[in-house]
Order: sequence, then structure tokens, then C-alpha cells
Amino acid sequence: MSNEATSCSFCGVVQSNESPLIAGREGYICEACVRLASQVIDSWSHRRAMAAAHGPVPKPKELKAKLDEYVVGQDLAKEIMSVAVYNHYKRLKSFSAGAWNATEDVELGKSNILVLGPSGSGKTLIASTLARIVGVPYVVADATTLTQAGYVGEDVESVLTRLLEVAEGNEERAEWGIVYLDEIDKLARSSEAPTGVRDVSGEGVQQALLKLVEGSEVKVPQKGKRRDGGSEVLMNTANILFIAGGAFAGLEEIVAKRVSPKKTGIGFHAKVDQTTPNLQDLLDMVQPEDLRRFGLIPEFIGRFPVLAALSPLNEESLINILLEPKNSLVKQYQKLFEYDGVKLEFTPEAVREIAKIALERGTGARGLRSVLEQLLRKPMFELPSQNGVMRCIVDEKVVRGECDIELEYVDESDTAIYVNEEVRAGNG
Ligand code: ADP
Repeated sequence: MSNEATSCSFCGVVQSNESPLIAGREGYICEACVRLASQVIDSWSHRRAMAAAHGPVPKPKELKAKLDEYVVGQDLAKEIMSVAVYNHYKRLKSFSAGAWNATEDVELGKSNILVLGPSGSGKTLIASTLARIVGVPYVVADATTLTQAGYVGEDVESVLTRLLEVAEGNEERAEWGIVYLDEIDKLARSSEAPTGVRDVSGEGVQQALLKLVEGSEVKVPQKGKRRDGGSEVLMNTANILFIAGGAFAGLEEIVAKRVSPKKTGIGFHAKVDQTTPNLQDLLDMVQPEDLRRFGLIPEFIGRFPVLAALSPLNEESLINILLEPKNSLVKQYQKLFEYDGVKLEFTPEAVREIAKIALERGTGARGLRSVLEQLLRKPMFELPSQNGVMRCIVDEKVVRGECDIELEYVDESDTAIYVNEEVRAGNG
């Protein structure tokens, strides 16, 4: 190599003690150029990550089929939400590809979703599964912990801070994320009657959420950037999909009042209308005006054009939830036991009994895990320290608490399987 090569081949800085150079086969590079190149490469990988995340959006039928693997029943809600998510990301994709030019197109396309349904019926599960399928950052925010700016509690912007964290600080990715606002019904004014009374806890938060939900530039404090002294970033929420969910207890009565024909007859001969639509039918009929009567403000309702209602889960659905989904609870506990070399089995009657108990608790599918946790607490405590246990069998009597879990052991002499009565007795 010639003497002239002792300067950086990129920027031309001459080699010195302050500017040492790295030699390549044909040239040299200085520290500043290496750093610059690294930044450029970083931006490439960001772009590649964005492209990967925004690859072809699965079609609504594909989204629904994927949801079916994890979420039992709720077909109508799954369909409605699949279409909304598909439309949302399809619009964003065509927008980012330059097919549309005005931001108002994106605002037009915002299809935020309001999900109604009893607790533990799968609202959060559908939202989180959709985010996973589409491959975008996802956060859940409890609406009851949010407050208007200036009040004690979390500002609504904190939701975006968390989304940014989930996106590992990548603003572009965060701006394509999904936010699930849980317990949105708790922000309702206590009744439709009080007019003029400002309700800071509920209505105020609805107001504060408006600007976030409709799409605006929001200053977001960035956590974990202590070096920069807690910097702020400007995030655009126009492309974030907001899914608000709540149980909306009592909403069905408001709908029923609206849809059932007015009974004008008073007195002994007045006919009583016997046809009462069920809860699911009523929730499927929800109109924006019902939500307004419930206590949501019209501006807020207007920003959630897609409504999806989930039905309460019955015994059969709970049984399916225990057994069917890809990561069903039964499969999860079986996996846990498998790590200790034990095969965990449930009789069909036991599964039904577990579903019955969970149903009585009235917390939807959420009750299933607590029933199983109580049921399996003892074996989960003892089995890891016991040798030779091969199978652990749960029948309906065990679930009802009438007897202990049956354990089958490997007989060390001839490897035959038998039920060790002594240990069973000792287990009690
Ligand atoms: P919520 O409707 O209150 O948001 P979640 O979606 O959080 O209820 O449900 C709680 C848990 O119950 C989920 O994590 C999941 O394990 C189970 N679950 C609820 N509904 C379903 C369903 N339809 N299919 C499968 N699992 C469900």
C-alpha cells in the first residue's frame, strides 16, 4: 500500500494519535466513520424490522382461523375484530407504501374497536392474540388507573410510554402498536341523569383519552433513558389501534328498554310481554345511543366505530377452554408435570366438574385457573421431591374434594404400574 493511504478512505482525515485508523485490504477507516456507518446500519435494521412487522397482513379469514386456535367460541366477535384489524393494517400499509397522500385518509380509516362482554370471556385474549398474529407491540392499560392530567394517578400518556418500551424504544414500531384499554365501562358517568355535573374520575379520563385515540402528536416521556435526563419523544397516535373493553354490566337493560315495544296498557288487563331476548342478543343489538345512556360521552363513542360483543361462557365452553386451545390450561399443567416425569391425567367427569365450579364463581374462564391451582397445589408441592411417580390422575371425586389425587408408581422390581394406596393415604 502506498503512503497516501494513511488517511481515512471515507472522510480523508489523516492518521494521527488523535485519529487512529483501522487498516483494510485496500484502504483505511477512522473511528468517526465507523460510528457513522454503524448508525446507518442500525437504521437499515430498523427499516428491515418494520418491513418484517408490516409484511403481508393476514386476511380476515386467516386471522380468525389463527384466533380459533387460542380462543374458544365468540365467533362473531372474532370475525368483527379480524376484519377491523385487517382493515386497519391494510390501510396503514397502503399509506406507508405511498398509495395515499393525506393524513386525513388515515384518520378516516381508524377502526378502533369497543368490545363488550362479561369478565373472563376472552376480550383481552382476543386483543393480545391479534397483536401477536400481526406482530405489533401490544400493551394493556387499566382505564381505572388513568387520570386526567394534574390528578393523582397515571396520565393517559403513560400508555404510550409503555408501548414505546414494549417496542424497545423504536418509535415507528410503537406507532403501529395495539393498545387494549381495559375496564373502559368504569369510566362511565354513574347515571345518564346528572347533567352539568363534571365527573373528574370518569368523564375527565374519557376526555383525556380522546386526543390519544383519535390520532394526534403526543409528547411522551421516555423511560430508561437516564443518560439523556429522561427525554421526551413526540409520538403520533394516528396509526395506533385502540381496543377498549369492558363488561358493561346493566347495558343490556338499556338496550332492552329501547328495543322492547312500549307497553302502554296499565291495569288488570294489560298484557305482559313474555319474550325477553337473551343477554347475547341484547349485546349484539347495542347502538351508540345505548352506550351514551350507559355513561360514555358521545365523542368517545364516536371514536370506536367497531362494536363487538362477547357472550358469557357456559359449561361446555369452559370445558372446551380447559382442553382445546393450543395452550389450554390442561395442556399447560400437563407440561409442568411432565418436567418432573409425571403424566397428569384428568377424567372427562373431572373436567366437567372443574368447569361447573368455575361457572359458579362467575368469573368466566378466569376461574378455571384458580380451581386448577387449588386442586393441584399439593401434588405440585410434593411430586418434585418424590421418586417413581408415573401418573397423577384427577377424577371428579378429587375435584369435589371427596378424595385425594391418585398416584401411580413405577414398581422398581418389575416396572409394573400400581396405585400406591399408602402414599395416597399419606397424601391426605
Ligand atoms: P376478559 O374478557 O375479562 O378480558 P380474558 O380475555 O382476560 O377476559 O380471559 C381471562 C383468561 O381466561 C384468558 O387468559 C384465557 O386463559 C381464558 N379465556 C377467557 N375466554 C376464553 C376463550 N373464549 N377461549 C379460551 N380461553 C379463554
